[in-house]
Amino acid sequence: LNDNDQHDNHLAPALKNGVHLNGHSTLTKGPSLTNGSLKAEYLLDRNLRKAYPVVKGGKGNYLYLNDGRKVFDSTSGAAVSCLGHGNQRVIDAVAAQMQTGTPYLASTFWMSEVVEELCKELINGTDGKMARVYLTGSGSEAMEATVKMARQFFFENNKNTPRVNFIARQHSYHGNTIGALGISGHVARRAPYEPFLMDNVHHVSPCNAYRQRQEGESNAAFVAKKAAELEATFQELGPETVVGFICEPVVGAALGCVPSVPGYLEAMRDVCHKHGALFILDEVMSGMGRCGTLHAWQDEDIVPDLQTIGKGLGAGYQPIAAVLISQRVVNALLDGSGQFVHGQTYQGMPVQAAAALEVQKIMREGNMMKNVQVQGAYLEARLKALLGDHPNVGDIRGRGLFWGIEFVKDKKTKEPFDLKTGIAQKVSDTAISAPFNMVMYPGTGTADGVRGDHVILAPTYIVTREDIDHIAKTASDVVHHVFSEL
Ligand code: PLP
Repeated sequence: LNDNDQHDNHLAPALKNGVHLNGHSTLTKGPSLTNGSLKAEYLLDRNLRKAYPVVKGGKGNYLYLNDGRKVFDSTSGAAVSCLGHGNQRVIDAVAAQMQTGTPYLASTFWMSEVVEELCKELINGTDGKMARVYLTGSGSEAMEATVKMARQFFFENNKNTPRVNFIARQHSYHGNTIGALGISGHVARRAPYEPFLMDNVHHVSPCNAYRQRQEGESNAAFVAKKAAELEATFQELGPETVVGFICEPVVGAALGCVPSVPGYLEAMRDVCHKHGALFILDEVMSGMGRCGTLHAWQDEDIVPDLQTIGKGLGAGYQPIAAVLISQRVVNALLDGSGQFVHGQTYQGMPVQAAAALEVQKIMREGNMMKNVQVQGAYLEARLKALLGDHPNVGDIRGRGLFWGIEFVKDKKTKEPFDLKTGIAQKVSDTAISAPFNMVMYPGTGTADGVRGDHVILAPTYIVTREDIDHIAKTASDVVHHVFSEL
């Protein structure tokens, strides 16, 4: 351990004792570590050519690297680690569940109290507006289950139901499994697999005020256009053929923290319900407190028929996601076959539930939504003060502790950067390097220029005002540095 670590005596005991978490000492073929970065020779991950910095451990807002650096995690990973790293209460809850000897139980045979308690906690978190919880191991699986449950909702009543079409949105991301990707309007992620993807998904435009709203156009007028577009798509497909409409209330990875314009979700719900279709929200990224209310829809006085959650649910301590199901949908299953025709091995594991339950209790008991709102408002103010006038910053938008910065070549025309410039990646790579040592999540633009390169900031819910000052100042320093070198 180096000097840095000596000062940070809150590092996990395993690290203090010199345990090699990455276990490379046992490999016959050594890892190729250069400047603390590791290019994998055994693991096949996202980028086969790139060397990544190696993390030894984490505590609170910080990640501790092999090369002695301490990096501020201002994205909570992929908007996951909302309680920060190394939370002792969650670690203890997970350890205690392991000690019972049943971290896993086959859901075919068994129920456990911790799973039921988690589900009760989650339903209470909707003020009883949702009725049941279906647990999964990832956001993609939650979306798969949602697609199937939505279809089954109609199938229960009519085995020949004509409801076969979904409507989703362009520039959306709902997961990487075939069904979830089929819903997604993410051109690059779909491209290699296009022939396998459902052809009964139809995409309408997203709700992106910065890129689409006309100068001087009111929210109401903008929303009316979006509702008319959805209505037209229903009519084109035949309203009686539509299962449901799916969207993210605040678009995460696909657009960079773009919130719906006020009134949008309500208008879209109304179109769906007018035609008897389901209104479905994907809150895998925007939910579980990320936007300042436990669920983003709670800000809007609407309730979805089906909703997915993930990421902040288990805060990275266990892989867990879920579908929240309204009484209307539960009733269709209860009054029909009484079964959801689905199921996976690692679903509703007690150890997953123990982690998520503890995370949710910590959030509730610590009134963390208040901190998300207060620090989120401060982050917005600081980012706008430090970067709002930068000639290459087109838009700073978001909600709660979920903020996106979109870069443009020309602030007036909003012309995005040529994708070859790789501007978001440059900003992210610079941020994570010394002397900045902070994570900024990159998102590339699209070739059609509909969305520009952007970065996301999504810090933990435990951030203080001083942390926000640090995040905003560092983000500003990084952006100024990158554009001065262009
Ligand atoms: N839906 C949204 C909105 C997401 O942001 C993601 C992941 O980033 C997913 C679904 C898929 O979740 P997972 O990566 O856990 O499968």
